[in-house]
Amino acid sequence: MSAQIIDGKAIAQKVRSGLAEEVAALQAKTGVQPHLAAVLVGDDPASAVYVRNKQRACEQTGIGSTLHRLPAETTQDELLQLVHQLNNDETVHGILCQLPLPEQIDELAILDAVTPLKDVDAFHPENVGLIVQGRPRFLPCTPHGVQQMLIESGTEIAGKHAVVLGRSEIVGKPMALLLMQKGAAANATVTVCHSRTQNLAEITRTADILIAAIGKPEFVTAEMVKPGATVIDVGTNRVGEKKLVGDVAFDDVKEVAGAISPVPGGVGPMTITMLLKNTLLAARLAAGE
Ligand code: NAP
Repeated sequence: MSAQIIDGKAIAQKVRSGLAEEVAALQAKTGVQPHLAAVLVGDDPASAVYVRNKQRACEQTGIGSTLHRLPAETTQDELLQLVHQLNNDETVHGILCQLPLPEQIDELAILDAVTPLKDVDAFHPENVGLIVQGRPRFLPCTPHGVQQMLIESGTEIAGKHAVVLGRSEIVGKPMALLLMQKGAAANATVTVCHSRTQNLAEITRTADILIAAIGKPEFVTAEMVKPGATVIDVGTNRVGEKKLVGDVAFDDVKEVAGAISPVPGGVGPMTITMLLKNTLLAARLAAGE
């Protein structure tokens, strides 16, 4: 039997309608309109598309946004100066530095410079520390989006074995943290796999929840999936000119899994939605709400 398709786009639309109401209510009560400042350095076309999509989503929910576009040869000091300016700008609630940054710039130095109260990507060590300790301020956008998809698809998480493929700071590691926390939509038993993991397929076959975030097109095959498992595909890999595929061989795996998210239309829209949620939260914090 074919799996339930977890439609990230539809879930994202639903969450965004709720957010739009919350944004309007905050503005009516306090006069504060949440505002996201996006920083784009260089002319990587994929990054430009990501930033445009994020700005469009802001518009859709009544969140203000400003794009700061800097040339590829921008120095670290120049970028740091902009970040400090945005940190001090009371009309800006969230700061997004689109990655990757050009190689002359130390990404960590920039991300660390964003004030934790405007760090809507949840990359700052203070915010990561709060997540580790189970008392988050901002939740990391992609893992939070995945968690919402698990909830919306009716996937039971508590006590289940979740296997996360990938241990990046942006996806794999925080994903594992969210699912292992004590609390709602968590309490899973989590295994994290990476490029040095041995017997990977043996491990993935024991997963009730399998989350793929490795950046390898269609790496996860049907043989690697336990029948009935929920499979969330974070991967976004461009193959050829236009085609976007995930880390999961969707057509085969959907015949084995109980539920599966597609690419595109899965995690991507949810990641953006969670960024909007964090921007609203940042504005609330700034307004003392
Ligand atoms: P990343 O920083 O490159 O990390 C990839 C991880 O996968 C690493 O931990 C790596 O292991 C592991 N890995 C690589 N090959 C492997 C293999 N053959 N077997 C097991 N593990 C392997 O990537 P990322 O930033 O986490 O992103 C992962 C994917 O998600 C990419 O396709 C990216 O475009 C996508 N993504 C999508 C969204 C979204 O919103 N949809 C958001 C973020 C990322 P090592 O640590 O040992 O190197």
